[in-house]
Amino acid sequence: MTKEEAKKRINELRKLLHYHNYRYYVLDDPVISDAEYDAMMEELKKLEKEFPEFYDPNSPTVKVGGEPLNRFEKVEHKIPMLSLEDGFSDEEIVEFDRRVKRFLGLSPDEIIDYSVEPKFDGLSINLIYENGKLTTASTRGDGLVGENVTQNIRTIRNLPLVLPIENPPEYLDLQGEVLLEKDEFKRINEERLKEGLPLFANPRNAAAGSVRQLDPKETAKRNLIMILYYIRDIKGFSKEISRQSEALNLLKELGFPISDLNRLCHGVDEAISYKKELEAKRDTLPYELDGIVLKVDRFDYQKQLGNTTKSPRWAIAFKFPAQQATTKIKDIEVNVGRTGILTPVAILEPVNIGGVVVSRASLHTMDEIEKKDIMIGDTVFVQRAGDVIPEVVKVVKDLRDGTQKKFKMPDFCPICGSKVVKDGAYYRCSNINCPKVLKESIKHFVSRKAMNIDGFGDKIIEQLVDKGIVKDVSDIYKLDKETLMNLDRVGEKLAENLITAISRSKGTTFAKFIYALGIRHVGEFVAKLLAERFKNLENLKKATKEQLLEINGVGEEIADSVVSFFSEKKNLETIDKLLSYGIHFEDETKKKSSIAGKSFVFTGTLSKPREYFKELVEKHGGIVRNSVSKNLDYLVVGENPGSKLQKAQKAGVNIITEQELLDMLEG
Ligand code: AMP
Ligand code: ZN
Repeated sequence: MTKEEAKKRINELRKLLHYHNYRYYVLDDPVISDAEYDAMMEELKKLEKEFPEFYDPNSPTVKVGGEPLNRFEKVEHKIPMLSLEDGFSDEEIVEFDRRVKRFLGLSPDEIIDYSVEPKFDGLSINLIYENGKLTTASTRGDGLVGENVTQNIRTIRNLPLVLPIENPPEYLDLQGEVLLEKDEFKRINEERLKEGLPLFANPRNAAAGSVRQLDPKETAKRNLIMILYYIRDIKGFSKEISRQSEALNLLKELGFPISDLNRLCHGVDEAISYKKELEAKRDTLPYELDGIVLKVDRFDYQKQLGNTTKSPRWAIAFKFPAQQATTKIKDIEVNVGRTGILTPVAILEPVNIGGVVVSRASLHTMDEIEKKDIMIGDTVFVQRAGDVIPEVVKVVKDLRDGTQKKFKMPDFCPICGSKVVKDGAYYRCSNINCPKVLKESIKHFVSRKAMNIDGFGDKIIEQLVDKGIVKDVSDIYKLDKETLMNLDRVGEKLAENLITAISRSKGTTFAKFIYALGIRHVGEFVAKLLAERFKNLENLKKATKEQLLEINGVGEEIADSVVSFFSEKKNLETIDKLLSYGIHFEDETKKKSSIAGKSFVFTGTLSKPREYFKELVEKHGGIVRNSVSKNLDYLVVGENPGSKLQKAQKAGVNIITEQELLDMLEG
């Protein structure tokens, strides 16, 4: 290849890759496959190596990170980066609205338009683009002087380095926020835990730490994202803007990622109700919000209002209650679960987190306690998100005063007093008849996604076990009305309802039955995989580790657990008894449903290209989306699924295999 040819091809590839980055990250609508993208990227990397004279700091290849720095240069901001005034209550926001009108000399019943935007909990960054190319990215610093973090910001995948449009503005001064998605934050902390590195307290700290890395290759590994929200200055451009909402639209037209939660609100009341709407959605969003921002939409009003030394008079941040707090660990207790495993639980000095008083947090395993170095008496960061169990994120070690005590797993089960044995990373009660284990197994067995026996409350289960009426789950099917009515707080009506529910539960699906057995590591999804692969109990009982490992989505831990479950005589006896009481399986594929109007997302590698399935689903009236949300109907999982799987599990989305999708289409 001649130099001329190389130059031409390099330029071509850069342009294409910039465009495909934009399709993928900004529009969330890729038009080529990952493999095609990778091939172009590889070709470009090779050419750039061979022809270093065509170096370009904004080449798409810099997304993996360039050479490390010794320190960050200072950058003086052309326009100061101000902070925002805060408000927490509706009254404060109404008062802000009144103040704005007073200042502008408008009557109190005038309606002001506000651009209402999520307040992202990340790190704000100033970006300068000259002739469509990113030239400087800097942190806010003290508002007047920040640090030059351009080479790190260049690694952020969804940020365009070269604008994907003809005739870009000559000069652009922008502001946005660098963020870490919650999943990515978790992944990074898990990795740091393994490597014995200090943990980040929250995504914001992690994002800030990632931007301030001297080695951009490290930053690149963090999968940061960026969202833009201000055009601070624009020169040499054909289009005029006179409102914040127009600025946001223009940012999008220029190829920048903006939030899809921005909303133009007509008046302060609309803004307040939008805040409530966003607050309710908060936990389902992939990243953290700490509130909303109200910005007076009209630029002429903004100009009249001006700034104080600290913040603009035309904007206010309306904060959500925090989801994190620090508190003290008073004690660590041990909880015995369904599989007999002892889980340490931190008993906390009660603390209000986002309106909910939290007094306990699971510490998961002894390993985790050791790695996080958690001691009784420690001050810790505790986090709560929606209905997720509160979690101890990290210890504030600076606050240790010598009174902290190490926690030790008990030698004997706190429920039945049997010896506790170590089992891999876990500690468990050695008594297979431990009453707590049985109670938890029953709770699981009757739960909605398992045998779905309605009305079986914890109090009833406790009594049935304590009185020795139910000795294993199959005994549930021996219960009669009189026995139930002899229990505390069970009247005739309830007893009758329970009997009906028990009897109705006998017709189930193979997958639900497998799930109900409560085999360790076999959740709802794995149960489906097992049902699909083995078809009936006889096959499943005989399943070998090798056969199990052949299933996508089944690893060592699951395979071992399944084999060991079916090798225990007691379990086999229970299953036989269950079948003898009339439990039978209905063919799930007979209950085919139409997919018209249902939404689908794919993750992992499927047996055919995604395009194929996409067309198939659309042909049947389904809708294919790119990202998981609470409203999604189905996530179709292939080999090596990505983070979408976890997201879908958390959001309670139906998770199906490729085969299940095909079965649905046949109907
Ligand atoms: P504070 O740090 O509480 O003074 O709030 C000001 C900061 O909010 C800014 O520096 C930005 O980093 C951040 N911020 C997050 N989202 C937005 C947004 N949509 N508009 C303006 N600022 C935002
Ligand atoms: Zn026990």
